[in-house]
Amino acid sequence: MNIEVDKESGFCPGVVSAIRKAEGELQTRSSLYCLGDIVHNSVEVKRLEDQGLVTISRDDLCTLRDTKVLLRAHGEPPSTYQLAASQGIEIVDATCPVVLKLQKKIRNMYETEPEAQIVIFGKHGHAEVVGLVGQTHNMAIVVEHENELDKIDYSRPVRLFSQTTMSVDQFKRLSEEIASKMHCPADLQTYDTICRQVANRIPHLREFASRHDVVLFVSGRKSSNGKALYGVCKEANDRSYFVSQPQDVTADMLSGAESIGVCGATSTPRWQMEQVAEEVGSLLSSCHQ
Ligand code: SF4
Repeated sequence: MNIEVDKESGFCPGVVSAIRKAEGELQTRSSLYCLGDIVHNSVEVKRLEDQGLVTISRDDLCTLRDTKVLLRAHGEPPSTYQLAASQGIEIVDATCPVVLKLQKKIRNMYETEPEAQIVIFGKHGHAEVVGLVGQTHNMAIVVEHENELDKIDYSRPVRLFSQTTMSVDQFKRLSEEIASKMHCPADLQTYDTICRQVANRIPHLREFASRHDVVLFVSGRKSSNGKALYGVCKEANDRSYFVSQPQDVTADMLSGAESIGVCGATSTPRWQMEQVAEEVGSLLSSCHQ
């Protein structure tokens, strides 16, 4: 029996750095507020909450004064920084550098080309997208699906960006669709701002999933890259299962399998994938007794 934990799965550098920042702060103070889940993984959030991290909502932020608040890797709109400053709140900024760079690029574009429409390919309401749209005084147009393309005025210049965790193929398709509608093709500029930490995992995961009989994909249910990367495994291997914790693994899932691969999202800690692999080992040994 072969059980393999994928070496390339697990936290991306942005998430590692945010968690390190939180842990560093918690060494010198008993608690620290974090605006939103620090990572879309409830088990890891719980581990940090046990160390003193307190997850708060935007409404909670409005009630705080003279304290410290950590901003997670997804980033925040300028209004969050303004609110914090007005309430004496010190920000521990764990925005991923890749997201910060994208925010800056969108802000510059908005300021230097006021006649252009900023279009962001991304998920409505996702924290990163809220942070990106905030760079444009909420003027940017968010497009999640092709059927939303009628929001764009094709007689005017368009500058197309992407949320960092979207699919490269979908971005290409969307760019082509927009290009075909433009009155003047030269008015369209597209910027593929997808983070390769996610995109580069796709070919690897395809290969990983297809060389195992069964794949256990470990991720929190709220993780958008978790859903996307699980979809990649499922396409490559129909016996791919989405699990959030070791208890989700059942003997039925493993039935007849000789090779089991355990992998996960960019928000999945390695220790969690290892726990799932251990659960597989103990389920298999109890089946053979
Ligand atoms: S996926 Fe990329 S952009 Fe997002 S937090 Fe990780 S490193 Fe940063």
